[in-house]
Amino acid sequence: MNLNWTEIQRHRLMELDADAETLARTFDDAGQRNQAFQTLEKERVAVHRRQLDALRSGARRPRLCRLETVLVETLVAHGFVQVSTPVLMSRGLLARMSITADHPLFEQVYWVDRDKCLRPMLAPHLYYVVKDLLRLWEKPVRIFEVGPCFRKETTGARHAAEFTMLNLCEFGLPEDQRRQRLDSLAALIMDRAGIPDYRLESETSAVYGSTLDVVAEADGLELGSGAMGPHPLDRAWRIADTWVGIGFGLERLLMAAEGGSHLSRFGRSISYLDGVRLNI
Ligand code: ATP
Ligand code: MG
Repeated sequence: MNLNWTEIQRHRLMELDADAETLARTFDDAGQRNQAFQTLEKERVAVHRRQLDALRSGARRPRLCRLETVLVETLVAHGFVQVSTPVLMSRGLLARMSITADHPLFEQVYWVDRDKCLRPMLAPHLYYVVKDLLRLWEKPVRIFEVGPCFRKETTGARHAAEFTMLNLCEFGLPEDQRRQRLDSLAALIMDRAGIPDYRLESETSAVYGSTLDVVAEADGLELGSGAMGPHPLDRAWRIADTWVGIGFGLERLLMAAEGGSHLSRFGRSISYLDGVRLNI
């Protein structure tokens, strides 16, 4: 019992979302193993074809899109105003977030031309918009955005080059209520995403100094990062108000809610449709 799957078999079984126990199986000889592979592949393909049929006759939208809709409707119902800002971000706005050549995140930025990049985060555009809304609207001012963000990443299973961020923020709340508000906003999103088991953890962040992360209890996966102000970064925008904000990764939320070892199943894709591999 010492023969493992071949690399190609293993890869195919992972695509078909086989469980860890299956992936760890060993065999006496190649004949036995190849037979087992054929049976398993057939089973997994049948499961995926059924899921694809269920999508067509049921929800008809990928989970990523459905989760976005649920969260947008929830936040709007809770008094948050949705904003929709460009995916292209100027170098100057990143610099205002202190993301310049000497910053760890700078290396991860995709530049489109000299002065424009694919946004690695939503915060600079939210700051830009909220500085005017704070002048125009009574407080508290609550806004959010959800949309694609891009980062060159070196680690695979929990990171994608293109992912979907939801960033919500609330400005002008009483200072002594900030922590409690972060807790309840995290609870709201976790509830709607179907993740009952999570905790909040203090972390040091490259951008915000210290953050309060929302982490999945099961495996410590970071689902979101929260922060509070007043904060030194606010000065670049001439903002002096109190605030709380959290940025969540939607693919991470799906991975935590549904299980699965790889983020790629949950993101934008031409190989998967709603988590189902199409080469079946
Ligand atoms: P990590 O430490 O896991 O790389 P981060 O702290 O760099 O994440 P943040 O800048 O805090 O990420 O971004 C907010 C959220 O966006 C994260 O909590 C995570 O859910 C999600 N996220 C960040 N980078 C990625 C990525 N490359 N792929 C998928 N989701 C991501
Ligand atoms: Mg973080």
